[in-house]
Amino acid sequence: MSASVIDLIATEARFGAHNYEPIGVVLSRGEGVWVWDTEGNRYLDCLSAYSAVSQGHCHPKILAAMVEQAHRLTLTSRAFHNDQLALFYEEIAALTGSHKVLPMNSGAEAVESAIKAVRKWGYEVKGVPDGAAEIIVCANNFHGRTLGIVGFSTDPETRTHFGPFAPGFRIIPFGDAAALQDAITPNTVAFLVEPIQGEAGVIIPPAGYFSEVRQLCTANNVMLVLDEIQTGLGRTGKLLAEQHEGIEADVTLLGKALSGGFYPVSAVLSNNDVLGTLRPGQHGSTFGGNPLACAVARAAMRVLVEEGMIENAARQGERFLEGLKNIRANTIREMRGRGLMLAVELHPEAGRARRYCEALQAKGILAKDTHEHTIRIAPPLVITSDQVDWALERLATTLTQDVS
Ligand SMILES: *Cc1c(COP(=O)(O)O)cnc(C)c1O
Repeated sequence: MSASVIDLIATEARFGAHNYEPIGVVLSRGEGVWVWDTEGNRYLDCLSAYSAVSQGHCHPKILAAMVEQAHRLTLTSRAFHNDQLALFYEEIAALTGSHKVLPMNSGAEAVESAIKAVRKWGYEVKGVPDGAAEIIVCANNFHGRTLGIVGFSTDPETRTHFGPFAPGFRIIPFGDAAALQDAITPNTVAFLVEPIQGEAGVIIPPAGYFSEVRQLCTANNVMLVLDEIQTGLGRTGKLLAEQHEGIEADVTLLGKALSGGFYPVSAVLSNNDVLGTLRPGQHGSTFGGNPLACAVARAAMRVLVEEGMIENAARQGERFLEGLKNIRANTIREMRGRGLMLAVELHPEAGRARRYCEALQAKGILAKDTHEHTIRIAPPLVITSDQVDWALERLATTLTQDVS
């Protein structure tokens, strides 16, 4: 590393809160599946900013929409109408088959907003006594970093010394429909769950789980809230991961790739009932639904469909997983994934996944470890077969070598 790169890293460490532990690379440019560091080294991005850059870095059509809109109007607040919001609503509703839309900014804000909305629905539509609403969530969930959300995390690192936390959440194991049945009470308003647990290490639930979940929620008048902030918008090879299960959520949360990585844009999508309970003054956000965000999100959704990225994610995901499964190395415990949401789980004896990520960096691949022993692989959805094969070759040599 050059002196200037070491300087940048040191300056970050000196002034910044130390709430991340980045891989030692300083990036300065991106295009499609590739990123470059300040010294001109090229890497295949196998993280895609935790799936926010699904459309590829600096997608030219999203960029053009952003620049064009930035010249015209960026922010009005919702005190006035803007000429992009209606079009954003119409297009996201048509794409996802939703009835109502609440625009927010970060993913965590969408989750918080959904919690507020399903509670209000519980009191005003379901008839739960005021203050008694319960929401069921899963162990090892990841829904964001705000106080309300970390309060129902089961990860000690996420929670410790951030309390006291809000009551009203019950935690059950992921993938266990019987546990859901047992946890539901007359005061249960919602079950909040990820279709595939991303941050927990790409954990795919057993087949049939979500159809049972759907039946239980319907039978008990409980809103099924699917957090598709990471799995949504093509990542798993379908527009929404719920489509693999043949179900429909009552509330769907989107974020990350909703802007193709240009800008924080998130949304709560619901049937008429849940978001229908919100009245003027009861919820809001200065930046939520701003014209720049709407223009960027419209372009991000458009290119996803027009350029066949969802189909490509299914096709390349299959190729990638098959290639991973063909790698013979005694470091590997399991290869799993759906679409381009993939994970390599190492045997604990193989050492920390971070070591392998650093070895991959040296070969031109950026990937990120999660939970000590898992390497997550989630390239932009525009990846080609040749690029998948290129990555597989490097993964194979890295996983069979001693990195300790
Ligand atoms: C990333 C993520 C969030 C939080 O999104 P932020 O934009 O970081 O607040 C919530 N849920 C899931 C499933 C995520 O992957």
